[in-house]
Amino acid sequence: MAQLNPEQGTVTAKCPMCQGAVSSFEWTNREGVEYGAVARHVQSPRGELSVISHRLFRCAGCGSGALGVIDVGPRGIYPGPHPSLLAFTPESGEKLPLPASFPEALLKEFREAESCLGYGCYRAAAGLFRSVLEKTMRINGYDGKGFKNLPDKIDAAAGDGIITASRQKAAHEKIRVLGNDVLHDEWREIPEPDVKSAHHYAQRILEDLYDDRASVLAILERAGRLEPDVASGDSAD
Ligand SMILES: [Zn+2]
Repeated sequence: MAQLNPEQGTVTAKCPMCQGAVSSFEWTNREGVEYGAVARHVQSPRGELSVISHRLFRCAGCGSGALGVIDVGPRGIYPGPHPSLLAFTPESGEKLPLPASFPEALLKEFREAESCLGYGCYRAAAGLFRSVLEKTMRINGYDGKGFKNLPDKIDAAAGDGIITASRQKAAHEKIRVLGNDVLHDEWREIPEPDVKSAHHYAQRILEDLYDDRASVLAILERAGRLEPDVASGDSAD
């Protein structure tokens, strides 16, 4: 979460171009010249006047640009006595570590979900975390004949001992059901903590499958999951 430093006017935030590292974003160059801002005057329902400043910033680490939206109070002076940061973009979401053997294409989808989470696009993030879970199950042999839907795949992975009973519960309750809300149900606001929970448990399940890959492959082979199976016809649930 970006933080405004009221006295200096700088913003501390995770920079996407610095691989999510915490960086200081400056609003002037070394000569003290502002990068630029536009102001908008607003009036609260109680009649209080305020100035909303849309201000350019620059990452001190990599030099990339960012935009801050700041309530600078009625006098419009920046940095002012009590500025309030309303929005800051782009800001990197939290990137959780994943095993090196996790497939590249799915890693990209997981990272995109994290970016959606960082940008506050919670429904998109929830849908993508569910998608990563389903595709991971599929490439591990939980696909085709005998698997009507994602619940079957999760339960089979638990039955084989690939994931624990607690992970099985989390896969259903924290990831699948939340993603299904996005894919199948009417629009509703999804709370950030719910998507953060899906993020956390998705990482744990992917670690279960890829941290000790040799052992998991041995279990999958014993369970006959890696046999080629051309049957399909899955539903998407
Ligand atoms: Zn940067």
